[in-house]
Amino acid sequence: MDHIRLFKELTEAFGPPGFEDDVRDILKRYLSAFDLSYDRLGSVIASKTGRGGPRIMVAAHMDEVGFIVKDITKEGYIKFAPIGGWWPLVMLGQRVIVRSRNKDYHGVIGSTPPHILKPEQRKKIPDISDMYIDIGVIEDKGAKELGIRKGDPIIPFTVFTELENNVFAAKAWDNRIGCAVLAGVAERLAKEDFPSTLHLVGTVQEEVGLRGARTSAQLIKPDIAFAVDVSLALDAPKKASEDEKLGGGVAIIVQDNSMIASRRLVEFAQAIAERERIPYHLATVRGGYDTGIIHLVNQGVPSLPLGIPSRYIHSNVSYIKKEDYDATVELLSAMIKDLNNETYKKLIDF
Ligand code: ZN
Repeated sequence: MDHIRLFKELTEAFGPPGFEDDVRDILKRYLSAFDLSYDRLGSVIASKTGRGGPRIMVAAHMDEVGFIVKDITKEGYIKFAPIGGWWPLVMLGQRVIVRSRNKDYHGVIGSTPPHILKPEQRKKIPDISDMYIDIGVIEDKGAKELGIRKGDPIIPFTVFTELENNVFAAKAWDNRIGCAVLAGVAERLAKEDFPSTLHLVGTVQEEVGLRGARTSAQLIKPDIAFAVDVSLALDAPKKASEDEKLGGGVAIIVQDNSMIASRRLVEFAQAIAERERIPYHLATVRGGYDTGIIHLVNQGVPSLPLGIPSRYIHSNVSYIKKEDYDATVELLSAMIKDLNNETYKKLIDF
């Protein structure tokens, strides 16, 4: 598989919560060796039936943080609201794409030049409700006349770029890197024979509350679940952690805001990583993963989130390192091959 192409396709794709169609189309192509089905919110499920072993769900959300058109001023500027978490300071002056029914429009989140900022304005964090998007309208042709309507989705515009040391800059690494892991695992396991039935799931609307994770898990009824998403690289500009860094390997997330990982699954993952010499580290994360919902479905599902360390998420440009992606694909593939009814029984024997 051409990974650079996979990364570029996925990160440049348009896909804020509720508008994941383009990302889903890419995933459908990369997961086509498996049987494809969908939940009714649009999550894509790629399944491979095993030999009577446990049902394993691996979830990666397809959506990215973006914006939605709230209003169009009479001067033709676009007022907007965030979908997903944004910090106002990283938004000003950034390029965006507004998708109307017929056309994608390029624009910029307008900022005031420093020359005319008053001293007190310079010290203040700007309010998102005061911001606007300028798509280059001039008086006689406003945004409305161009076919832009309330509810139209907006994403950051960023060209995928290869940097030094296998570090890649792109928008939406949260969570297109997880989607890329699904593609990598599918490639690894398509021709392998293993006991479990595997469901690789591209979920929708994670950034607004893990919605597709819930609906797809209710459909699949998994016995064991993993979520793959970014974790935080705490290495820039000063190291704040010894191992949570770009190049730190796969993060085994022992706890986040929405769940305590299955202790037994953590130990299983650690043992496999040691055995296969896969670089990994343990991490606790503020925030949540798709497993935050999945582990509560039905009678409960032993679950474990895995993270790929990333810098600068929820902004126009974030970084990941290819080796951390490789480690995640390797660990997941090895765990999936090893899980069987016996190991599953140990996870739920109380
Ligand atoms: Zn995410």
